[in-house]
Amino acid sequence: MFDLKGRTALVTGASRGIGRAIAVTLARQGAWVAVNYATNAAAAEETLAAMRAAGGDGELLGFDVSDVNVAAAAVEELSKRRGGLGILVANAGINVDALLLRAQPEDFDRLLATNVKGTLFLAKAAVRPMMKARFGRIVAISSVVADMGNAGQTMYAATKASLGGMMRSIAREYGARGITANVVAPGFVETDMTASLGDEARKKLVEMTPAGRMGRPEDVAAAVAYLVSDEASWVTGQVLGVNGGLRT
Ligand code: NAP
Repeated sequence: MFDLKGRTALVTGASRGIGRAIAVTLARQGAWVAVNYATNAAAAEETLAAMRAAGGDGELLGFDVSDVNVAAAAVEELSKRRGGLGILVANAGINVDALLLRAQPEDFDRLLATNVKGTLFLAKAAVRPMMKARFGRIVAISSVVADMGNAGQTMYAATKASLGGMMRSIAREYGARGITANVVAPGFVETDMTASLGDEARKKLVEMTPAGRMGRPEDVAAAVAYLVSDEASWVTGQVLGVNGGLRT
């Protein structure tokens, strides 16, 4: 348990899955959390209700992270109103599965816009108030496939693999200002994103995973809670695998 009281956090893609668990975990530990979503306001309301049930608070903040000007304006307005922004968790992400021979440029553009451009320009917007406060925590959610690769996920893996270099560069640019930038790379986690996996594929993944099970969103949220804490001030530019040992 880390004390995040007094911190304002923005978690993107927090209406469902891993993002929801991160929002609830940070709120439970005292952070005030802006719950970002793209279209699913009803699900985001459920996240906010779960945060409040855990003793925390925050608000909904809907915008499409790939719409970088809108996203930057939302961050600016939020940090003005809250007197700063200490924590950014760039979790919003999409996946389009396709073997390389079936890859389509328009699908890759969509993946790049959300997973890469959305993360980079949100980080840009967040760094300003963080520099002012000489405190900041940026965490980007990548994937085990960034490093491991996965048949059918060439496009997705390419977008997720970029986040390591992105966060390491931010870590170098702003380390002296009290800002850390890290990546959490989850293995296969039970969410809507993996709901379409067939029984056979699921069984195979579990067999490949030393921990013997798929991940839970809370497994990932616990790692994020550490990285955004005061205690993690000397951990920056790192990629933390949270994958049940799938990739060691
Ligand atoms: P999910 O269940 O599909 O939820 C995706 C979330 O992202 C939703 O809250 C969605 O909002 C939001 N979102 C999507 N596009 C957005 C956009 N353009 N702007 C703002 N929000 C957007 O996904 P998940 O499984 O929790 O995955 C979360 C992150 O972890 C992703 O980056 C994913 O790539 C990564 N990851 C997942 C797994 C896994 O096994 N599940 C493994 C490794 C990494 P709406 O509800 O409004 O649509």
